[in-house]
Amino acid sequence: MKRRQAIKSTAYGSAYALFFAQLVACKSNRESVESIVKEEILKRKVMLPENTPYTMDFLQGNVGFFTERGGTIGWMIEDGHTAIVDTQFPDQSHHLLDQLNSMQDGHIDLLINTHHHGDHTAGNIVYKNLTDRIVAHENSKTNQLANAKKNGNEDKQLYPNELFKDIWTTKVGSETITLDYFGAAHTDGDAITHFENANVVHMGDLIFNRRFPYIDMSAGASISNWINVLDKVLNKFDVKTKFIFGHSDNGFDVTGGKEDIKAFQNYLSRLLIFGEQSIKSGITLDELRMSTTEIPGAPEWKGKGIERSLEAVYTELG
Ligand SMILES: [Zn+2]
Repeated sequence: MKRRQAIKSTAYGSAYALFFAQLVACKSNRESVESIVKEEILKRKVMLPENTPYTMDFLQGNVGFFTERGGTIGWMIEDGHTAIVDTQFPDQSHHLLDQLNSMQDGHIDLLINTHHHGDHTAGNIVYKNLTDRIVAHENSKTNQLANAKKNGNEDKQLYPNELFKDIWTTKVGSETITLDYFGAAHTDGDAITHFENANVVHMGDLIFNRRFPYIDMSAGASISNWINVLDKVLNKFDVKTKFIFGHSDNGFDVTGGKEDIKAFQNYLSRLLIFGEQSIKSGITLDELRMSTTEIPGAPEWKGKGIERSLEAVYTELG
């Protein structure tokens, strides 16, 4: 039944009709037909209807990404099992679910929040009756509660109901999903999600790919420890690991490899050095804001938003 729904869907329609007809012609065993269809689904690109406002595709194995507005979403499907990492905003979560439901039945085994920021958790509410399990780092929930109170939108939140401190692991279908916390970085509650079989890691906002980062000092961020956290990531994962990034600048991907992590780590190191030198030279934050368009040694980071880095480095070192 699940496969029949997939074949009927707009996303897969005509390609699968032909493919399925070919299979039926040469296979009599229903079980093997279904398992081959399943494998083919997982190998294919996500075929989106025309003019969608979003991008969605498989990345490696049965894990993919979705991006429209806010922090990139990760997802995994496997014959009736689904896991999702982050939710952007309600409209975006509906768009994602429309596509996932066209591939298979809609039960969501697990929702993961990489951290509390609204562009990663505002869509949680869509999952209110769709999943029993929402997991995040314990500080992520504390931060989400505090922000909701401050912004007066507590009624629009759905909070994690499973919390972890250092490491957390579970099975969804045949996939093992492990969350690590390596210490303060973008916030004090950034989870790193590894889909072990697929070998895909969702980094949340620990990577801003060639885009000036938001460094949330009000939620316990630390530039110097962020560099250490990325060292732990580089040590833990291998050359075949594919990474999903929270954000990227125009023209750069929201997915990538270790070289992109090293490049961002270099950005943070150069930012710290630049901050130290500027403070030592007696330059005020206002003067620095007026005169800086680029961090020396990290020219790939350009465009809007450098002032957030300058303010954060002065707060951390000040
Ligand atoms: Zn964030």
